[in-house]
Amino acid sequence: MHVLILGGTTEARRLAGLLHGTPGLKLTSSLAGRVASPRLPPGDVRVGGFGGTDGLAAWLRDHEVDALVDATHPFAATMSFHAAEAAALTHVPLLALRRPGWVPVPGDQWHEVDSAAEAARALPALGRRVFLTTGRMGLAAFADLDGLWFLLRSVDAPEPPRPRLMETLLDRGPFTLEGERALLRRHRIDVVVTKDSGGAATAPKLTAAREAGVPVVVIRRPPVPAHVPVVPGPEQAARWTLDRLEECPFRAVG
Ligand code: NAP
Repeated sequence: MHVLILGGTTEARRLAGLLHGTPGLKLTSSLAGRVASPRLPPGDVRVGGFGGTDGLAAWLRDHEVDALVDATHPFAATMSFHAAEAAALTHVPLLALRRPGWVPVPGDQWHEVDSAAEAARALPALGRRVFLTTGRMGLAAFADLDGLWFLLRSVDAPEPPRPRLMETLLDRGPFTLEGERALLRRHRIDVVVTKDSGGAATAPKLTAAREAGVPVVVIRRPPVPAHVPVVPGPEQAARWTLDRLEECPFRAVG
């Protein structure tokens, strides 16, 4: 049985780790190729877009994929819709592995918005020194905020357009609470911007902000395709895949 994991997340790597070496199971992980030196999962890896829904459907057919797991980031909505459409076209069973979103707790000062543009509009009323953790891709939305200073944390260096007053910290999670507390203090951060990515690896910034009384602009998740079964973690996704393996009819070779 051939399983394709659409990856680019910690959970996708963990799922590949759980399934790798299972007798009778061929595993391929797919990465978009956004990060210069990504952390690679075990098993076969392919890199780069498929060329839209039709490209993905063709890939599923050409490589005789029997099960598809969309383990992309909650904000990789385009890929999730392509996966749903391509799975429907090819009748390949699809599961979405999507980590739960974060939930505010007492003491949090969250300002929930629907986009980076809305986050940018909210910022001037909230602070002057911004810790921007939304990655280098959506930076253009903040480029015109000349009165604010930004600390951008991203895996790779950003390209223009970007805010005029900005320092970049090249780093990737997981991050510790101690580290996040120190970072907020050192840079005198008075507002944080984040996507509702969920997961433990980048959650300590929320605790550090709460402790410091710093507001957090939280960008809500984009819509996801309806009618796709969803699990919250790699263990459940591995279970689903192994169940498909048990159902998989013997495929004659040659
Ligand atoms: P996106 O907007 O949903 O996808 C844009 C295009 O990138 C897709 O149409 C597809 O190209 C290609 N693509 C995306 N994920 C792919 C994958 N796993 N394998 C092959 N091609 C893929 O995605 P994005 O937000 O740019 O994210 C790109 C990747 O980074 C995702 O794999 C995601 O898991 C990871 N990531 C994203 C975020 C985030 O905040 N968005 C954060 C951490 C990690 P084609 O149409 O040509 O197939």
